[in-house]
Amino acid sequence: MKIDSICVHGARDLNDRTGAVAVPIYQSATFAHPGVGASTGYDYARVQNPTREPLERLVAALENGRECAAFASGMAAMDALMWLVPPGGRMLATSDLYGGSVRLFSELASRAGLKVDYLDTDDRELLAASLGPDVRAVFVETPSNPMMNVTDIRALRRTVGPDVMIIVDNTFLTPLLMRPLELGADLVIHSGTKYLGGHNDTLSGFVVTDSPEHAERLRHITKTVGTGLSPFDSFMVIRGLKTLHLRVERAQATAMEAAVWLRRHPRVRKVYYPGLPEHPGHDVHRSQASGFGAMISFEVDSAATAERVLESVRFILYAESLGGVETLITYPHLQTHSDVPREKREALGITDRLLRLSVGVEAREDILADLGQALA
Ligand SMILES: *Cc1c(COP(=O)(O)O)cnc(C)c1O
Repeated sequence: MKIDSICVHGARDLNDRTGAVAVPIYQSATFAHPGVGASTGYDYARVQNPTREPLERLVAALENGRECAAFASGMAAMDALMWLVPPGGRMLATSDLYGGSVRLFSELASRAGLKVDYLDTDDRELLAASLGPDVRAVFVETPSNPMMNVTDIRALRRTVGPDVMIIVDNTFLTPLLMRPLELGADLVIHSGTKYLGGHNDTLSGFVVTDSPEHAERLRHITKTVGTGLSPFDSFMVIRGLKTLHLRVERAQATAMEAAVWLRRHPRVRKVYYPGLPEHPGHDVHRSQASGFGAMISFEVDSAATAERVLESVRFILYAESLGGVETLITYPHLQTHSDVPREKREALGITDRLLRLSVGVEAREDILADLGQALA
């Protein structure tokens, strides 16, 4: 099946006798054994649950991976990932990452002995110079959050060689537009709270891998720590995924128009969107993804303008998060990236003039009109 059909049909109740079209919510914490030493395949919901399982299979199929583990949030998935990096190692990471990932690395992973160096993961020379026997992994966001920097994943694999683990946070693009495992990544992570769920109503996170050892380790972590996704939330994400292709196509078509419109606006100084031909990562992005996504960052002429936009948007919501049907606008320096030290933030371009737009699926005319009146 094509990926659009997998979105619709990829999750089926594996235990069905009723013909139910939707996967039921198996709200059961424990499962009775049919005999001594026997199991139905389900024993205890921390380990596995019949609503979570079809969702995990679906997300694995979308990413063209062998296995997937579903977590209670993107950050729970990130935390599980950290247990896969051998202790005492060093990890290289894209310099502007989701702020929560930076917080996890600096406050928790560092205590487990993991050191993280931030750099431009698309700078092959710098990357090659940063490698060493203790470098075990590279963590990449492409396009990155919020500066929309693009990393060439195939080139990254060639640069780091086969033994360094490549992890890609694919939250911004979704498997519909890019499948990092096919480009040479070892692990893909998602905040399913964003496009996969798609309705700003459910937290979730996913890790997908082709490696049986990583898959086994991830199962062990979920079983041990209990951060797996709940049956109800699994149901919600299965439901959201049925329209992923429609939502992403619509949002990115509008985003392209909004990027061009913003670029021409007198109060906008700079637009960061890989779909614009002048974006420095435009060609690389095109070579590894089938679309540009629906996330746009843009710099306005002053902090006062940025604040006025946030206060005067009408239906566009000034809120953290992205990837839902509602168009949201975010102020990265106060919200998603407030934990990143100021000098570092400013050096990356995350200033008090930078806004980030997650284009939703409302009518294009309404989105542009709302932005227009807010910027006026
Ligand atoms: C939101 C987000 C996360 C964290 O996910 P939660 O579901 O909020 O825990 C990680 N990475 C990226 C790129 C995100 O946007």
